[in-house]
Amino acid sequence: MRWQGRRKSDNVEDRRGISGRGLAVGGGLGGLIIVALYFLLGGNPDEIVQSLQTQGTTSTAAAGQPLSEKDKEMGDFVSVILADTEDVWRTVFSGSGQQYREPHLVLFTDQVDSACGYAGAATGPFYCPGDEKVYLDLSFFDEMQLKLGAPGDFALGYVIAHEVGHHVQNLLGIMDQVMSRRGRVGEREFNQLQVRLELQADFLAGVWAHYARQAADYLEQGDIEEGLNAASAVGDDRIQRQQQGYVVPDAFTHGTSEQRVRWFKKGLETGDINQGDTFNASIL
Ligand SMILES: [Zn+2]
Repeated sequence: MRWQGRRKSDNVEDRRGISGRGLAVGGGLGGLIIVALYFLLGGNPDEIVQSLQTQGTTSTAAAGQPLSEKDKEMGDFVSVILADTEDVWRTVFSGSGQQYREPHLVLFTDQVDSACGYAGAATGPFYCPGDEKVYLDLSFFDEMQLKLGAPGDFALGYVIAHEVGHHVQNLLGIMDQVMSRRGRVGEREFNQLQVRLELQADFLAGVWAHYARQAADYLEQGDIEEGLNAASAVGDDRIQRQQQGYVVPDAFTHGTSEQRVRWFKKGLETGDINQGDTFNASIL
């Protein structure tokens, strides 16, 4: 991706290298539980939730360490992608007479406090509807770079656009609608709704890519499938629920790689938000 020199967003909060210690005081998860969708990483969800609950009391933060040139460049890249999403969604929203409220994006190292609770790097990228912020940790970037190699920058752009997609779902009330079904429908049905929520976020990431590609031709053939497959292999995100008490869904997935690529591509090709109704689609 050729991203250098493009506009950077003002909405990035860079908390990298800042110790999370102290933030935990009186914080912890409180009544808010982050449910890590650990399925793609092949782990036991209970373990992750336990680790989330204890992370607030331990600190492994590399606090006070200056950012390297690579770290700074990564921060610039994130700012450019976020700015791109702002431009795209402002345009799309104003097209239907609505105003787009820009989310903030928090870069952190090791651990972070959010309105959705305390999270460690193991939580992965996430969006918190409570404070309308996307949270990204540097170690996840490193992991992606290591595993993904060359198309890593696109995969990272996709992850950011996917999380911003959750913000769009939040602004449109879609996230609330899905979360309000929790406990009112069976677990399996709720899992299905969450899969459709995730696939729609992939679709919305595709809509971003559609317009971003028009504005700056930085997507190359092959980037997309490679990047998207790689991103989902890493386990792109976790979702949060502001709920007390929860049951970790047994069978929850983000959808298969094919489904994710398909919805992303649908967004990419149409650029039409009306084409992204994953909830009424008979075939995912
Ligand atoms: Zn997601």
